[in-house]
Amino acid sequence: MAFSPKHLLGIEHLSPTDITAILDLAETYVDLNRKEQKQGGALAGMTQVNMFFENSTRTQASFELAGKRLGADVLNLAMGASSIKKGETLIDTAMTLNAMNPDMLVVRHPHSGAVDLLSQKVKCAVLNAGDGRHEHPTQALLDALTIRRAKGRIHRLNIAICGDIAHSRVARSNIFLLNKMENRIRLVGPQTLMPSGIDKFGVEVYDDMNEGLKDVDVVMMLRLQRERMDGAFIPSEREYYYRWGLTREKLANAKDDAIVMHPGPMNRGVEIDGDIADDINRSVIQEQVEMGVAVRMAAMDLLAQGLRARRREAVSV
Ligand code: ASP
Repeated sequence: MAFSPKHLLGIEHLSPTDITAILDLAETYVDLNRKEQKQGGALAGMTQVNMFFENSTRTQASFELAGKRLGADVLNLAMGASSIKKGETLIDTAMTLNAMNPDMLVVRHPHSGAVDLLSQKVKCAVLNAGDGRHEHPTQALLDALTIRRAKGRIHRLNIAICGDIAHSRVARSNIFLLNKMENRIRLVGPQTLMPSGIDKFGVEVYDDMNEGLKDVDVVMMLRLQRERMDGAFIPSEREYYYRWGLTREKLANAKDDAIVMHPGPMNRGVEIDGDIADDINRSVIQEQVEMGVAVRMAAMDLLAQGLRARRREAVSV
């Protein structure tokens, strides 16, 4: 096995070889998912618990489908209605779950670092499904798979990540991954939505979309994350769309075969023109969703292999 991780908490500590191993395995799951019989057995007999402390549609559904297709029993905990609301701490909840012997815990949490903390308290494998503005590793991996399939490679590309970078875990995970794979990254957006310490990210920064998109191969748009803003970061949505929303005119600066991406959920008419989002010749947004299931199957398969190997070792000692 190329890669035997205990948890998948972020991209920051993965190597290019780890990333390639996940993407290669995910390719086999893309094929499986297009068949009528979609059953793989990598998680047979295992229990997967999804704990989402923040709303999610596609990520939660994607992890649920991925686990079921691999043969796991999947439990979705409705965290809004859970004991957390009654004052139980994250760690108490984790310990309670731990006692039920799950094998995979998929966690989304509004606080950066919460998933990491939880992973130190439980015996099972933990997957980060997004923690605050920190990381969203499976999103970056599914984006990488989508790019690799569309462009034939995931290195030496010019990639523009546009919009609300400061509040985006998607941007952070993508910056780590795309840098590790030796791409040229541009961050494009208003200065108020750029993270602090950006000079250490190894990226070029633009606040003008026309300049930022010049000759890029990939245009990755981000949602304006109002729920993480505690003040006025943009003048108005209309003005934002005018300056930083992706329109046909702005996209014309990119290469003719540039692809357009968005992690969803999209604010049409705010960060992206609805026509471009739906243009099957430019937009790979639907493909991103498809790749999401395959990448999550690959990640859980690798974690399950690691878990089994460690359990075998523990028995033989
Ligand atoms: N779905 C992604 C996330 O959970 C992107 C977004 O919400 O804008 O971070």
